[in-house]
Amino acid sequence: MKGIVVKSTGSWYSVRMESGEVLDCRIKGKFRMKGIKTTNPVAVGDVVEVVVNPDGAVINRIEDRKNYIIRKSTNLSKEAHIIANVDQAVLVVTVNHPVTSTVFIDRFLASVEAYRIPAILVFNKIDLYDEEDLLLLGALTQIYMQVGYECFHVSSLTGEGMEDVVTALKDKVTVFSGLSGVGKSSLINRVEPGLKLKVAEISDSHDTGKHTTTFAEMFPLSFGGYIVDTPGIRAFGLIHMEKTEISHYFPEIFKRASECRFYNCTHIHEPGCAVLEAVEKGEISESRYFSYVSMFEEGDEKYRK
Ligand code: GDP
Ligand code: ZN
Repeated sequence: MKGIVVKSTGSWYSVRMESGEVLDCRIKGKFRMKGIKTTNPVAVGDVVEVVVNPDGAVINRIEDRKNYIIRKSTNLSKEAHIIANVDQAVLVVTVNHPVTSTVFIDRFLASVEAYRIPAILVFNKIDLYDEEDLLLLGALTQIYMQVGYECFHVSSLTGEGMEDVVTALKDKVTVFSGLSGVGKSSLINRVEPGLKLKVAEISDSHDTGKHTTTFAEMFPLSFGGYIVDTPGIRAFGLIHMEKTEISHYFPEIFKRASECRFYNCTHIHEPGCAVLEAVEKGEISESRYFSYVSMFEEGDEKYRK
């Protein structure tokens, strides 16, 4: 019988079977995963084969992962969770209440690109936006759509725009992120009433760092698909990027880079830089370019702790 691991405590795994039934399973023998260093070979999101023996259910095979992300549970502990087979990442942002900076958005998007996972931006709280906010919303949407990211405008208070979110989530495994206060839990609650509480519990334990043993968990959606909640950007903040690699994770910069005069152009100061030229012409957004430069200048320092 096939199922998907929805929760892992390290010794027990909750596996949701195709029938919808959830079985508590143990693992059998030793599994070795190619290229992954972890004490725990089975991750949330893994598709597994389960056999039910007289003394309990056992996972005896793990299917190859199509991708995975690593989520560090708190800043203090070294504990990390792997979430396997992620279809997409949703970043909930607000233009105002609170302000989400484009640098924050771009860092998130770059990290998600590094994992090769598609990203969606959900702009929430549109019911609160004044004229100025709406102008900014329009400008940001244009910038990100042009790069290739889907953008939704919603209000989890009024329900406006929520159908788009539901359609996007259906039958997919989606990782949710967002700064605290942007309305992530309200949005999840709109999408699936009743889920909010459970998700909030997980987020809170991550945010406070009080509980050192936190478990990754995926929540099934009644209309098909799963949500994985991740606090802030931390989920994606761990990825190590070499300076020269950062431009690969800005799709529009990466595309232009092939036209630069020097093959190792950093797109900061070089003559004949096609990226700089595109920024001047307005073909690459200044704010995106600014985020690139700020990540580049920070280099690996941020990740070297
Ligand atoms: P989280 O920290 O991202 O999970 O944010 P919450 O869901 O807890 O929401 C933070 C605050 O914003 C709460 O007071 C919500 O009631 C409010 N909120 C969330 N979504 C909306 C929205 O679309 N419109 C308005 N006006 N308020 C919202
Ligand atoms: Zn260049």
